[in-house]
Amino acid sequence: HLMDSNGFAPLTSDFESFYTRRLYTRIRDCWNRPITKVPGRTIHLLTRESKDFNKTFNLTGKVNEVLNLSSYNYLGFALNSGPCANAVEKTLRKYSISVCSPRSEAGTMDIHRQAEDLVSSFIGKEDSMIISMGFATNSTVIPCLMEKNCLIISDELNHASLVFGCRLSGAAIKVFRHNDIRNLEEVLSSSIAQGQPRTHRPWKKILVVIEGIYSMEGSIVKLAEIVALKDKYKFYLFLDEAHSIGALGPNGRGVCDLLNVPTDKIDIMMGTFTKSFGAAGGYIASSKKIIDHLKTSCHAHLYAEPIPTPVVQQIITSMKIIMGLDGTDTGAKLLSSIYRNSKYFMGKLKDKGFIVYGDEGSPVVPLLLFNPAKIPAFSRECLKRGIAVVVVGYPATPIITSRVRFCISAAHTKEDLDFALSVIDEVGDLLQLKVGKNRKIKI
Ligand code: PMP
Repeated sequence: HLMDSNGFAPLTSDFESFYTRRLYTRIRDCWNRPITKVPGRTIHLLTRESKDFNKTFNLTGKVNEVLNLSSYNYLGFALNSGPCANAVEKTLRKYSISVCSPRSEAGTMDIHRQAEDLVSSFIGKEDSMIISMGFATNSTVIPCLMEKNCLIISDELNHASLVFGCRLSGAAIKVFRHNDIRNLEEVLSSSIAQGQPRTHRPWKKILVVIEGIYSMEGSIVKLAEIVALKDKYKFYLFLDEAHSIGALGPNGRGVCDLLNVPTDKIDIMMGTFTKSFGAAGGYIASSKKIIDHLKTSCHAHLYAEPIPTPVVQQIITSMKIIMGLDGTDTGAKLLSSIYRNSKYFMGKLKDKGFIVYGDEGSPVVPLLLFNPAKIPAFSRECLKRGIAVVVVGYPATPIITSRVRFCISAAHTKEDLDFALSVIDEVGDLLQLKVGKNRKIKI
C-alpha cells in the first residue's frame, strides 16, 4: 500500500507508515479543533455531534465554551477586548494589513522600527530585528551565523525550529543531555583539541543553543552555570526565550531577569511574540554589528513579508504595559498573577500525587500520562467535564513520556484553577495517573 498507481511512494508515505494503525485518524478529535473566538480564559470549540470520529468536523456544529488550559496566552493579552484592542484597531485603519514587500525593499514602516527600538530596550541589547514568524526566526538566523567547519552544541530538547536552523546551517551538530551542565562540559571539552591553546581548536566557531523555558518540559535553563562555562570555553551563546520572555522575572524580561544574569553574556537573544504578547512573529536582539549582518543575510528578512502592522502594534502596546510605560501597574500585576497562578497550579497537582515536570514559576506545566492510549482519553474526559487541554506524545516527546501540557495564564482566576484541579483529580483517578505525593519517577 506504500506505492501509488504510478509505482511511486505517495508523498505522505512516511507519515502513513508511522501511523500504520491509523492512530491519527482515530484520535484526531483531540487536535486541530476549530475554535470560533479568540482563545482567552475560556475557549469556544466547535464540536461534532456525530460519534463517528472518522467524519470531518461539522462546521455548523455545536459551540462548546470551556475553560482554556491550552493557549500560550500567558499574560492574557490575546483578547480582542483587551488593553491593546483600541491601538490595534487604529493601526489597522492607518496602515492596513500588508506592505506587499519584504522589509529590505519597500516593506519597512516606521512602526517596525519603533517596535525594534522598544524590543532592544526591553531585552537590554544594543539592537534588534523583528521577523514575521518565530519559527522562521530560528530556522533562518542560525544559518547566517554558523556554517561548515563550525560546531553547534544543542540541548537535546530544543524546539524543532532551532533543530531546523542548526541543520540548515551545514555546521557539525552535537547534542547534550537536557539542561545537564556536566554533560555540556563533557561535550565542550571533548570537542576542543586537547593541549592546544584555545585559538587552535578545530572549529571556526562554537555556538551553544539553549531555551529559556523548555516548552515540553516546563524546565528553566541553568543559565548562570552555562554562562560560567562560556567564560571557560569561549563559545557563543544563542538563547531562545519564546516561552520565558514576558513571563519570567520580576520585570518580565525572561531568564536573565529571573536569574540575575547580565544580558551581555548572551550573544544572540531570540524570542517570539506569540506567547506573552498575544501577537505573532519573532525577534533577535544582539549587538548592532550582528543585527546589521542579519539585515543583509537573513532570508526571512530579505525575502519575506514583514509582521503586519496591526500585529506590530499589539507587540508595542503589550510590551509597553509589561514595562510600565503605560503609566499603570497593570504589567506588574499581570506578572505577579502569572507567577502565583503557575506556582499554585503546579503545587496542587504535585500534592494530588501526579507526576509533574517543570520548575516553579513556569507557566507550562506538563503532567505525565506515560501510556500513549491515555492521550486521547485524557483529552476527551477533560473536555466532557469542561476543560480544554493540549495532549502530546511521540514524535514531540519520547513514546513512554506522553503527557498533557497545561498552559497557565494571568487571565485565570483562582476559581478557574480550582475547577480545573477538581476535573484533573477526577480524570486522574479514572485513568490511574496518580503515583503518590512527592514520589519521583526518573525516566
Ligand atoms: N521557539 C520555541 C521554543 C517555541 O516553543 C516556538 C513555538 N511554540 C517557536 C520557537 C516558534 O515560534 P512561533 O510559534 O512564534 O513561530
